[in-house]
Amino acid sequence: MSDLFDRPADYQEKRDRLVEAMKRRHAGPVMLKKSSSSNLFRNRSQISERLDVRDLNRVITVDPKKLIVEVEGMTTYEQLVKATLQYNCLPTVVPQLNTITIGGAIAGGGIESSSFRYGLVHETVIEMEILLSNGTVIVASLDQYADLFYGVPNTFGTLGYILKLKVKLVPIKAFVHLQHVFFSDASKFFQTIDTITETGKYNSHRIDFMDGSVYERDQHYLTLGTLVDTAPYTSNYTYMKMYYRSISSRQEDYLTIHDYIWRWDPDWFWCSDRFGADKWLIRLLFGKWLLHSKTYWQIIGWDRKYQLGEKLSRLRPHQPNHESVIQDVQIPIEHAPTFLDFLHRRIGILPIWICPAKDFNKHRFDFLPLKTKGPYINFGFWDFVETDRDPTKGYYNRLIEKEIARLGGTKGLYSESYYTSQEFWQIYDQKRYNHLKQVYDPEHVLKDFYQKTIKRA
Ligand SMILES: Cc1cc2nc3c(=O)[nH]c(=O)nc-3n(C[C@H](O)[C@H](O)[C@H](O)COP(=O)(O)OP(=O)(O)OC[C@H]3O[C@@H](n4cnc5c(N)ncnc54)[C@H](O)[C@@H]3O)c2cc1C
Repeated sequence: MSDLFDRPADYQEKRDRLVEAMKRRHAGPVMLKKSSSSNLFRNRSQISERLDVRDLNRVITVDPKKLIVEVEGMTTYEQLVKATLQYNCLPTVVPQLNTITIGGAIAGGGIESSSFRYGLVHETVIEMEILLSNGTVIVASLDQYADLFYGVPNTFGTLGYILKLKVKLVPIKAFVHLQHVFFSDASKFFQTIDTITETGKYNSHRIDFMDGSVYERDQHYLTLGTLVDTAPYTSNYTYMKMYYRSISSRQEDYLTIHDYIWRWDPDWFWCSDRFGADKWLIRLLFGKWLLHSKTYWQIIGWDRKYQLGEKLSRLRPHQPNHESVIQDVQIPIEHAPTFLDFLHRRIGILPIWICPAKDFNKHRFDFLPLKTKGPYINFGFWDFVETDRDPTKGYYNRLIEKEIARLGGTKGLYSESYYTSQEFWQIYDQKRYNHLKQVYDPEHVLKDFYQKTIKRA
């Protein structure tokens, strides 16, 4: 067995150990002990009782005929993609950062540039084997325990832990042909996205991947990817060249499928400049192997542990305050120009990542409550905003939450949120959540959805 794959018997052994650990736990809450870096952008309170799932990180089978992969819940997309590429397939939706795990992407609502065709990660799941807080393992799918199948996505592991899943694959080709299409006008940009989502085509050519980048108020780029068997050349953005800089400087490009899938990872979209990694010399010295989302998470981890940023800011007492605004927000496409205008006027973060998605299965997932018939747009913006207020009070984050509510959108819960309990439960169906909690975690061994995602419990 390679280090990517496990035999079913190996998985059974690991599962039995976790069941035992859950049954033998002491009174009080538990949390996961994962080996990969977390992509949560908020601090979490630490609990002493941790369920060690570090070795639940292998692929079990890839079936290229049925286009299904069976994989353990804590496998990173880096591992998963490596395994499926050996069979010329990919998971239908692959989040852009290769440190994200498949279980984390379902628990937190993962999205990607194929989402305009296939929806979010959880919509590509066929079944999930879930460990409940009483140590029972159940298989949830459309046919059995369907209430949990619909309830687990986006509830951040508060109803049970996904140990193993079956997920849909798509066949791939060796290369991706990219077109970077420029729009000065935001309305035309979103209209084009809407049409491509509807038809799957641009200028009569099939589009397999679509995302966008906004660099200035009048600079919108739509990046359209088509799978192709051959390429006249391929670009490489894993070392000295930066993918995000290529978008405005060329109209067309070719990448290998592997490099396309991880195009945003070496520079963490464009956030690597916060670490100086956009500088030529730093890149040269840093080396190709350190340009990785894992490196940036490690630096952030050290900063949180040793409070380096805070200590530095104490040395420069007259510097302005900065509020961290790290958000992914979903807005119905008809309101996307309004929301973009709001971001320019009130927040001012640039660039902005744009990722269209649609409700693929028309299934009712309880805790992804976007009410829209058409596609919606994910706006990703990750930076600090200068403020003369107390940055911990989240003035700008609150403004964003209010605008989302006004436009009928939702936001990712992986980072800071400031909702009151009342506001939160107006968005997410409290009655439904309490019912599922009562059935699947009646002793509240796992944390509560609101407490965990908003109060950092
Ligand atoms: C800068 C930035 C950019 C991002 N960009 C993207 C993007 O492009 N696309 C995208 O899809 N997402 C993106 N995300 C969000 C990311 O997908 C979510 O934060 C996701 O939940 C992280 O998954 P993880 O594997 O790192 O999980 P973790 O951070 O380890 O866990 C996330 C939550 O899920 C729970 N959880 C983890 N594993 C399981 C499991 N097996 N079963 C049940 N619950 C579990 C954890 O308890 C925790 O509450 C981004 C986040 C950041 C900070």
